[in-house]
Amino acid sequence: MGEVESEAKTTDAARRKYEFKKKLEELMSKEGSGTELITLYIPPDKQIHDVTAQLRDEFGQCSNIKSKQTRTNVQSAISSILSRLRYYKRPPENGMAVFCGTILLGGDRTDLQCTIIEPPEPLNLYMYRCSSKFELEPLLEMMEEKDVYGLLVLDRREAYWGFLRGNRIDPVNGATSTVPGKQRKGGQSSVRFQRLREIAINDFYRKVGDRASEAFLAEKDFFTHFKGLLIGGPSPTKEEFEAGGYLHHEVQKRIIGLFDIAYTNESGLSELVDAGQDALKGQQIIREKALMTRFLQELVKENGNAAYGEQSVRQNLETGAVDTLLLSTKLRKSRLKIRCPNCHYHHEETVVLPPGISISGKNPGACPSCSSPLAIDEEIDIVEELTRLAERSGSSVEIISDEFEEGAMLLKAFGGIAALLRFRTGY
Ligand code: ZN
Repeated sequence: MGEVESEAKTTDAARRKYEFKKKLEELMSKEGSGTELITLYIPPDKQIHDVTAQLRDEFGQCSNIKSKQTRTNVQSAISSILSRLRYYKRPPENGMAVFCGTILLGGDRTDLQCTIIEPPEPLNLYMYRCSSKFELEPLLEMMEEKDVYGLLVLDRREAYWGFLRGNRIDPVNGATSTVPGKQRKGGQSSVRFQRLREIAINDFYRKVGDRASEAFLAEKDFFTHFKGLLIGGPSPTKEEFEAGGYLHHEVQKRIIGLFDIAYTNESGLSELVDAGQDALKGQQIIREKALMTRFLQELVKENGNAAYGEQSVRQNLETGAVDTLLLSTKLRKSRLKIRCPNCHYHHEETVVLPPGISISGKNPGACPSCSSPLAIDEEIDIVEELTRLAERSGSSVEIISDEFEEGAMLLKAFGGIAALLRFRTGY
């Protein structure tokens, strides 16, 4: 691939990603008046006729819906999806996500809208859901920046390499060698046979080193996103390969570890990821630890570039002063808008929830002015809100685990929210 062409491809990918994000934001803002917005996720290997069969079934079950308006709206949405699916013999390469329903436009105007999204990564779930909002979580997950690791498995006869992106293995290519087996043919001198065999092994290692390095270095943002390389195989092949320095020096210095595995074809890649799990986790903690150490160093400096606490960090985000937003993985904090359905009373409160506990169980109590039961009008997830602010100002976001001392400190001493700053502000 030429340089110009590869640059065009990068720009194209960035533009597609931006458009994908914009579409998700649009869908996020849409609401139906009842439980009548349909979300349908179809993975690439699903048969379209299985999907249409389920949709027809759902259509029939609509007769159980009590509200006539909701029933009509759900049935219109299902019909609309069915008519669109007729154009598909099979799902697109990465599957498809369909969002369809009667959208509230404000006032009493509504509009039946259907959006089909072909995601940038393969969908791995099938889902049919009817709700007052569209279900976007599986697509939002694709937006997260993921660390990339290189994977390489080899013995003296074959090799395979690929990437680990988030939790997904992305195989790239392999190679096989012409290295003769250990048994020499009769009449060949043992010394000469050994010599030839070593040359062939060396050639194979060089070929693997060159081609795998080329694939890894071609990765977009190699210097910022490529976090390391795992090498798997039997002993002493992988040790020999590492010691020989067959990889490009930028790749070579990113080797995280060598792991014993049995397979050296494509299926060896997932075996390697399993074997390297602890090393990968350790790697992540090393990174997080470095960020927290930097934060603590800045904090003790006079006029250091650090901030913490929801209020201060939010204001720094709004002024574009945040370089890296640090959020504890255990932080679950929401701002609730609470309202009395009976009078004009309303207030806002912030709640911190233990992970895994949902807000829906919370009882907001009785209205202080008329004693009617209060209702939760809106829940704003503070982690989500700060993350969105960070994206808007080009700050990076790091989720910090509490499995090491400084990480636990972030949660306990700094309320789970901190920031490394680009410059000092008054906040
Ligand atoms: Zn009241």
